[in-house]
Amino acid sequence: MGNSLSRRVGNLLLGQDKRQRVRATQSLLTLLLDLLLAAIAGVGVWLGVLEGRLALLWAVLCLGGVLGFYGMVRSGLNLRFKSDPALTLPQGVFSVFTTVGAYLMCGPVRGASMLALAVTLIFGMFALRLRQLVGLSLFAVLLLGLAMAVAHSQWPQRYPAAEEVMHFLLMAVLLPSIALLAGQLSRLRHKLRQHSVELEQALEKNRQLAIRDELTGLYNRRHALELMQHEVSRAERSGRSLCLAVIDIDHFKRVNDQHGHGQGDEVLRAFAACAVAALRDTDTLGRWGGEEFIVMLPETETHAAAAVVARVHRALAGVRFEAIDPALRVSFSAGIAVFEPGEALAACIERADQAMYAAKQGGRDRSVVAARTAARLRPVAARLQAVPSSAP
Ligand code: GH3
Ligand code: MG
Ligand code: MG
Repeated sequence: MGNSLSRRVGNLLLGQDKRQRVRATQSLLTLLLDLLLAAIAGVGVWLGVLEGRLALLWAVLCLGGVLGFYGMVRSGLNLRFKSDPALTLPQGVFSVFTTVGAYLMCGPVRGASMLALAVTLIFGMFALRLRQLVGLSLFAVLLLGLAMAVAHSQWPQRYPAAEEVMHFLLMAVLLPSIALLAGQLSRLRHKLRQHSVELEQALEKNRQLAIRDELTGLYNRRHALELMQHEVSRAERSGRSLCLAVIDIDHFKRVNDQHGHGQGDEVLRAFAACAVAALRDTDTLGRWGGEEFIVMLPETETHAAAAVVARVHRALAGVRFEAIDPALRVSFSAGIAVFEPGEALAACIERADQAMYAAKQGGRDRSVVAARTAARLRPVAARLQAVPSSAP
């Protein structure tokens, strides 16, 4: 309950989108920092080193600005700034202005306020490039120098030249140095992120290599078995019907013998593409080995499975192999078995395999549904045309 409340409050404050949440969190952190600074300014007023009205004006401007940035992120307006949707640069510039304002407001303790410029540059490290960081630091130095010059010319007692010059020189050296360091860290962060993306891609490539058959791109035998085991467990739990079909290309050796192994490979690829297109999205095709394939048909009764396999028969019959031999026709024989509750997966595959052999013996280019009891095999179609063509 506490969890769901904190999630709701989190969603309300930060939104649901992952990236926008990061940006909104950053804006809220800045808001928190400015609230703390405003509180310190309050202490300064209480101690008599700051002037109340000036401090209030500064706090209102600061908090108003940060709330404005937060509002932009929450409303999605920030997304219009494609190159910097986190608004880091505008927030950095705004922060430079408020810090220079703080410098002018802080009187005798103004030296400490310059630290906020360093914090701004470090914040920028998370989104800005080296060039932008150096640019921001130079802008800060210039604005600070200008403010110091104006302040000294207006109130020379309060802002003595020697102190202003010392402050300025320190900032003119320190801020670009911090920007350079922050820029190096930003570069490292970018590199790390790029490396992690590349690593992710390499891992995904390896994973695909491990689960896919190189020739056809279909799932390989090991992964097909894993998926089948998963489907069997699901079928056991749900009580829904699961069918498996073992497919074997007819007289494939002849294709190799007559046209060469390379062309045989082409035929295997063409079969895979044609079958994937003819199967439903929920069916999964794997290469079982050589010219044998296996299909998983979850939540499917035998008659529907037979209709789906019939659709593959028809699709393959329509494939022309112009580049190999325009007269070449390729067909397959299939055995379909419905998984029986309590049965081992291997036993179900074995029944489908037996049914496939029955289809071969029956003349090839057809499907046979395995009887529920392993002994009897029942042909669904004497010839392909006899298979119900009202496939879903
Ligand atoms: P049947 O109708 O009884 O299945 O006859 P078949 O010729 O298809 O069966 P057989 O088992 O005699 O021959 C299968 C052939 O498939 C033999 C093998 O060289 C070939 N084969 C297996 N894997 C590949 C492969 O990856 N590429 C190619 N080109 N041929 C392969
Ligand atoms: Mg075979
Ligand atoms: Mg074969």
